[in-house]
Amino acid sequence: MPAGGYFGRVLVADVTSGTSQSRPLPDSVLRRYIGGSGLGTWLLWQLGTPGGDPLGPRAPLAFVFSPLVGTPLTTSAKFAVVAKSPLTGMLTDALASSQFAIAGKLTGHDAIVIHGRAPELSVLLVDGDRTRLIGATHLAGMTAADADRHLRGELGRGWRVAAIGPAGEQGVRYATISHDGRHAGRGGLGAVMGAKNLKAIAVRAGTKVATADPAAVLAAARDLRERSFGPATAKYRELGTLANLLAFNAISALPTRNFQAATFDGAAELAEQPAGNAAGDVPGAVPEDVRGMRRVARSSCASCTIGCEHIYRSRGGQQARVEYENVFALGPMCGVSDPDAVLAASARCDELGIDTISAGGTIAWAMECAQRGLIDAPWLRFGDSAALLRILDEIGGRGTPLGSLLAEGSRRASRTVGGDSASFAPHVKGLEMPGYEPRTLHSMALGLAVNARGADHNRSGAYEADLSGDLDRLDGGDAHVAGAVETEDRAAVMDSLILCKFLRGVFTDPFTEWAGLLSAVTGWEVSSGELRETARRIVMAKRVYNIREGWQPADDWLPERLLNEPLSLPSGRVATLTAGRLRAMIASYYKMRGLDLEGRPDPAIVYDLGLA
Ligand code: SF4
Repeated sequence: MPAGGYFGRVLVADVTSGTSQSRPLPDSVLRRYIGGSGLGTWLLWQLGTPGGDPLGPRAPLAFVFSPLVGTPLTTSAKFAVVAKSPLTGMLTDALASSQFAIAGKLTGHDAIVIHGRAPELSVLLVDGDRTRLIGATHLAGMTAADADRHLRGELGRGWRVAAIGPAGEQGVRYATISHDGRHAGRGGLGAVMGAKNLKAIAVRAGTKVATADPAAVLAAARDLRERSFGPATAKYRELGTLANLLAFNAISALPTRNFQAATFDGAAELAEQPAGNAAGDVPGAVPEDVRGMRRVARSSCASCTIGCEHIYRSRGGQQARVEYENVFALGPMCGVSDPDAVLAASARCDELGIDTISAGGTIAWAMECAQRGLIDAPWLRFGDSAALLRILDEIGGRGTPLGSLLAEGSRRASRTVGGDSASFAPHVKGLEMPGYEPRTLHSMALGLAVNARGADHNRSGAYEADLSGDLDRLDGGDAHVAGAVETEDRAAVMDSLILCKFLRGVFTDPFTEWAGLLSAVTGWEVSSGELRETARRIVMAKRVYNIREGWQPADDWLPERLLNEPLSLPSGRVATLTAGRLRAMIASYYKMRGLDLEGRPDPAIVYDLGLA
């Protein structure tokens, strides 16, 4: 009998032959890697070919569930999609939430791993234990949302769909996988799926899963639900993550025009609420305005009591979900302050099926190349809304040489363009940077540099240490390193359980409380100490996977611009992040993680991972 919350097996489907088999997942593996991001890393290690092409037929694409999926615990209806990234050549794990997570798990599997390449554009159906491949050429070129609608209409009740848009079919290296309007966004998972000739995977529940202690799980769910209505989540309920835009602008942490500045003159246009228009606590209490946009709806992922999704409509009538990251990437990063254009660009990214952060970062880099005469596209100017929308379409369809170049991401494109363009390409390990200015957030600078996925704010929440008020965010040292390690460990557990990060503020003793939840669901007696060990194991397993795939010490680094161009702040201080300071923080991080001077673990640590 598997532990509560698990089926103890993984479905491995080969879309070349159309065959599949269930394989056992022993309790010992599940306890060490939990689910989601952790279990996905273990599966990728076991089922991937070392050094394999992420877009090749043998590359595994893993949809990984977790023991908490299907329980009444708020924000637990999540899954991870894990693969070797075509953008970074290293591990990428994107989390998303929707009914797909619940239906996928209740096919009776803790994960579904896909290999191979279908002979034509196809859909993989997983109906309980049965799998089938059906033709999908009639869905070619559709948005993921349209493909989802069509498929559910064709297949009937109970099916849930995760699909790619046109960009995934075209192999854009930062294409997404979408379902119920949510996206597994970062690292190009949509391109991996497209390379398998898969337009979609559709799943239908066929069974149930029991928890070890249903009464304890229900009591915990009630308690968490109450806490999820409290002050720790108010920001997400009221304005959503867009609230960060003005806050980051005020502290010179808002990357602007490809990191040429850290404040943006047009920030208020994009995010300021008119006076006296504060949001209330009541679910569904709409609308409020930000200057150019009207909030028309608020909703939530499946099984979530927070509801951080804020849908806005622009003056031009365009409607899109507004979050800090998409507004930062398609607004300040590209110098665009027109809310209509930013909403239209966000909506276009959703339709094409591309990651807004990588799209914005790559376009901003290209705008600077055009400004410097490194590429022949004088029309591609910072702040030009029409140019932003035009280039998005060229990227999504790979319709022009420039669009095709930018579909490769900023790192690959800079190798083609040459000159000094690599020095201002805004990526780490090939993944474009999120909206956190490393020169004014030194903990985050470290978190971004050493993260396994590349420049990423979801696997390292080190900015929390910078914003805690307990240390000087412009003067990175050991305290910053400790903050980066702690938030990385917490993220590893939350991403494997899986619980939404926006819930993290409600936990006063996180590892103890998470251990309690995992114990109630599984029946294991998990302590906070064991869970801390699990966190370290998952972080290390990702590093070890990356080393196997070719990681080098120079990959734990930041773009040269950030180390060579100090920022003058309104306060009069100068924000400088030198190579020496970053190197010292990385050395301290390696020491705290038990790594050698080059960032490699010793054999005893690798043995403990149980990857062999
Ligand atoms: S808080 Fe937001 S992202 Fe998290 S589960 Fe709820 S709606 Fe989804």
